[in-house]
Amino acid sequence: MKIRFWGVRGSLPTPGPETARYGGNTTCIQVVRDTGPIIIIDCGTGIRSLADHLMASGKPPFDIRLLVTHTHWDHIHGFPFFTPIYTPGSNVQVYGIGPLREGKGFETVMRDQMTYSYFPVENTMLDSVVTYNDYNKMFPDGVEKCFDLAEGVKVRIKLTNHPVYCTAYRIEADGKSFIFTGDHEPWPEHDIDETSDTKALYHMMNRRLIDFCRDADFVAFDTTYTQEDYESPGKPHLSKRGWGHSYFEYNIALAREAGIKRMAFTHHDPTRTDDALDRLMNEKYLPLGKEEAPDTEFIAAREGMVVEL
Ligand SMILES: [Zn+2]
Ligand SMILES: [Zn+2]
Repeated sequence: MKIRFWGVRGSLPTPGPETARYGGNTTCIQVVRDTGPIIIIDCGTGIRSLADHLMASGKPPFDIRLLVTHTHWDHIHGFPFFTPIYTPGSNVQVYGIGPLREGKGFETVMRDQMTYSYFPVENTMLDSVVTYNDYNKMFPDGVEKCFDLAEGVKVRIKLTNHPVYCTAYRIEADGKSFIFTGDHEPWPEHDIDETSDTKALYHMMNRRLIDFCRDADFVAFDTTYTQEDYESPGKPHLSKRGWGHSYFEYNIALAREAGIKRMAFTHHDPTRTDDALDRLMNEKYLPLGKEEAPDTEFIAAREGMVVEL
């Protein structure tokens, strides 16, 4: 199994010379195997380059499994530009969960972005190719389940802490395990009074994510912020608490606790330039990783990067 990153930017595409090395496209990850369907996680703007790659190297019809972590723009924005959905005879199975608090199912949100208000091509063109699989319908008694995505490929689902329903994925195939967290903010157990029941609940929720990541070969983790960005000490109005994203320090500690072999920091903050990310990695977080989690290899995800498991 190989993991190929087609988009590593969080929140907003960031084209331009200052982000060209790590890449400005939003989240899209391909799980590359020798056999079986094409497996993709998220369809941020990075999926357009993947579409070009598939059209150039493969021959339609395509057999595709697309796992969507959640329906925020930066994770679905590239879907209308994913050329294989317009190739007759292809089978594109899309999996995900909708923003239930707004009363919308997964398919509704995915289809809404392809109405004339937003896009010039109607959904009906895709009806024979695209099938939406909503976890709430697949698993009505709770979505934190495991299912067979394809022969020899198991997918385990974990809900994360984000302002909309969001799923982390653990993919097990060919004797290896890969996890993508989607967007996730640590449950704020340290900000709460010792005696509160909520503290114990948050602690348990954090432990459950550690267990989900246990002994993984490779984890790509939402690392939008530094701890300083996140907490913004002295300037509480600039704090990023509650925005739904994690930070380097937390992820390094989790890597140690969970016994993760390799971790890629991804979902880079859109305001972070390549030079700034290099400085953070070389001067701070690679040394911190070596000290705090010496058994884990840390890397910053970059567009085009391929990691062999
Ligand atoms: Zn995001
Ligand atoms: Zn999000």
